[in-house]
Amino acid sequence: MEKNQKPVHEKPLPKLIYITGLKKYNWLYREGYTLNNMILSKANEYRDDLIKFMQKLVRTKSYSSKEKDVIEVIRKEMEKIGFDEIRIDGLGSIVGKIGKGKTIIAMDSHIDTVEVGNEDLWKVDPFGGEIKDGIIYGRGASDQKGGMAAMVYGVKIMKELDLLDDFTLYITGTVMEEDCDGLCWQHLYNEENIRPDYVVITEPTNLNIYRGHRGRTEFRVKTTGLSCHASAPERGINAIYKMAKIINEIERLNENLKDDPFLGKGTIAVSQIFFKSPSQNAVPDECQIQIDRRLTAGETQESAIGEIENAIRKAGVEGEVIELFYERPAYTGKVYPTKKYYPTWVMDRESEIVNKTVDCYREVFGEEPKVDKWTFSTNGVATCGMYKIPTVGFGPANEIYAHSPEDQIPVEHLVKAAAMYALLPKKLSS
Ligand SMILES: [Zn+2]
Repeated sequence: MEKNQKPVHEKPLPKLIYITGLKKYNWLYREGYTLNNMILSKANEYRDDLIKFMQKLVRTKSYSSKEKDVIEVIRKEMEKIGFDEIRIDGLGSIVGKIGKGKTIIAMDSHIDTVEVGNEDLWKVDPFGGEIKDGIIYGRGASDQKGGMAAMVYGVKIMKELDLLDDFTLYITGTVMEEDCDGLCWQHLYNEENIRPDYVVITEPTNLNIYRGHRGRTEFRVKTTGLSCHASAPERGINAIYKMAKIINEIERLNENLKDDPFLGKGTIAVSQIFFKSPSQNAVPDECQIQIDRRLTAGETQESAIGEIENAIRKAGVEGEVIELFYERPAYTGKVYPTKKYYPTWVMDRESEIVNKTVDCYREVFGEEPKVDKWTFSTNGVATCGMYKIPTVGFGPANEIYAHSPEDQIPVEHLVKAAAMYALLPKKLSS
């Protein structure tokens, strides 16, 4: 059995102690109950509520920019738990607030999902929320509705065990991440003025602690030519031939990009090609390529564009780099354009936020966590990549199931993540 699959077997708490205030639990300490024992027991007690909430989330379809219904499901659950304040921002993300202390902490879960893809590849109903052998299946189960379910119950435990402290906690259910990671947080930061001291991203980490991932940017390169009849190509200038020279240089560039011992290597790929031509019997007068550039530590959009301009010069032809923008309207109707640039972020292993999260993990689970990184991208591109807010990742489910027809989350992960989230804000604010 894998470390993270180990079930919670804590001594159940006697019924009569569910009174507010940890001070009132002193006698439990004398009885041999520890804080982690109480937190895990509480999380275990809410296992069925967690399952029910998680199933509701999976059963409510929430493709990017169509999240309205699932936001309502979350609002109802937050109301039931008793958040101090619940609001929905201009882009449609939900923000639940707890406390009004000094340290500002945000715990984030994006609640949009990618589409189902080929339904024939699914063994279950992608929106059925089926549970089998302790695992919940369906679109968004791993990426990442589990984070949302566990956070809300983390708050319930936090309130009941009096784990509130000198902090203000924002629980955010954010929109459009799958389409444009970080956009929701650009909006929360700039338009809603939410400026946390710490951010916890609850994307799937398999209950490990993650501290960064590669960034990326998308752009195009355009060449132009002169069209003429294809029967006499010497009369024109072929935009595709020009582009071919640039593409060769880009292929070579990929071999020489930066490497980083933790995040891995930066990469570049030509992913699509487009052309304009008067007909099939004409020399094309325009060509564009789409570029997918993954950025490792020390690489930025600026450095990536500089390299491409160099490659164009080496190719000995004229070409133009075109920056791309994301401009899809949110379900609220709001358009909030942003560059297709998702900066790399990485927190030092010895940074305060990582150390405090590791301490919290040790305290809750009594064992050493694994500290690692995501393969994919998260809203951390905005919180840490753009705004330099210390950010850390801890989430239920395994990222290998993200976006796949095997999308799933173990119930045990929901219970454990709720326990961790109940204590984490107190640890971060200490
Ligand atoms: Zn995700």
